Amino acid sequence: MSEMIIRGLHASISGREILKGGNLTVKQGEVHALMGPNGTGKSTLAYTLMGHPSYQVTNGEVMFKGRNILELKPDERSRLGIFLAFQYPVAISGVSVANFLRTAINSRRKAIESADKGVSVPEFRKMLKERMDLLKMDYSFASRYLNEGFSGGEKKRAEILQMAVLKPEIAILDETDSGLDIDALRIVSDGVNTLRGPEMGVLVITHYQRILNYIKPEHVHIMLDGRIVESGDAELAMNLEEHGYEWVREKYESVPA
Ligand code: ADP
Ligand code: MG
Repeated sequence: MSEMIIRGLHASISGREILKGGNLTVKQGEVHALMGPNGTGKSTLAYTLMGHPSYQVTNGEVMFKGRNILELKPDERSRLGIFLAFQYPVAISGVSVANFLRTAINSRRKAIESADKGVSVPEFRKMLKERMDLLKMDYSFASRYLNEGFSGGEKKRAEILQMAVLKPEIAILDETDSGLDIDALRIVSDGVNTLRGPEMGVLVITHYQRILNYIKPEHVHIMLDGRIVESGDAELAMNLEEHGYEWVREKYESVPA
């Protein structure tokens, strides 16, 4: 059973400290929600976990499979079994969704099984079809160029399909801020609910309490000013839904750094 253990993580961007500590462990098979007001550092945490070069880690560690992943390159983290769904995925003209996914799978397989041969085309087709059926996706979607001209909802679909095919052990979904309409929210929620199970741990990052109407997390964490200040179960989310973030601010904002 793999788990990702975040300990005392501090990170800066452009010399400004954004993440200021806090602990969080996500185990395979668990669904966690990380919530918090805008600008508290939720996306910074997601990017730091995946190794975005703009963020400098100044303290702390993130252990996964016995390694501090902060020392690894983003592609190494990915091959180790960590996946980050982007909020604003990049379009790649000329590369179909299917080709992109096959390349991604081959890259992971070669690393994990040290196989010199990738997945065969028939084997890949079968697997892709099976995953698309599971997610109730139209198969024609796979032949479109990745994210080119995709609607917000379709971009989400592509991210979820990627997750379904790569089968990460830990998936991080940053669903924050504006631009996430109810349609996209549903696609992400349905995808997570379909794919959740003992093999995958999920960290859903969101500003919206309403996502919790669709995804029922076992664990809920609140981030305020770069720190994870509260951790609890679904009851904590209900509390947020009812009372908003005010009580969290009142409880923690006066505490000196
Ligand atoms: P959240 O996802 O919780 O809304 P972010 O992680 O996006 O928060 O941002 C956290 C803080 O980092 C914000 O105060 C934001 O203004 C600041 N920030 C983000 N990017 C930069 C940057 N490139 N330079 C300086 N500050 C930044
Ligand atoms: Mg954000």
